[in-house]
Amino acid sequence: MIEIELTEPNRSICGCCGGTNTSLTRFVYQNGDAYAVYYVMFSETHMDDALAGVISLGGWGSEDLPENRVAFPFVLWHDENGYKISLTDSNESPWHDVEILGRMLDRNEALNHPWINDVFHITDHIAENDSEVIDYFKLDSSMIN
Ligand SMILES: [Zn+2]
Repeated sequence: MIEIELTEPNRSICGCCGGTNTSLTRFVYQNGDAYAVYYVMFSETHMDDALAGVISLGGWGSEDLPENRVAFPFVLWHDENGYKISLTDSNESPWHDVEILGRMLDRNEALNHPWINDVFHITDHIAENDSEVIDYFKLDSSMIN
């Protein structure tokens, strides 16, 4: 069972337009143990851009930065059929230089990684359980319709 710890969002003012940008840092627990961390970033004034995120897996139960820790960058958006996720290359990620996330994988390596199903399991939970993300997508669809 996966649980997401919903901490306070960080809001900042967009340098280009003065709109509100939101970034989230979330801790994910599996059966009560620290399991993963994800970051998400989106803008209320740049609705054309997909929501950007990254999931880091590997050794989050320990204090150290284990060698096998890896990060999976992605973008998330939705259309009339529901949520869509696409993995991206590390150089496209706003967090490509964040060491604590572990080695960031490019798209092809991520898709062939043994933990890729854990990644998709977590993104399902992001789309279904992260209230900030859900609110953002509601705002998005109200602006389209
Ligand atoms: Zn802006």
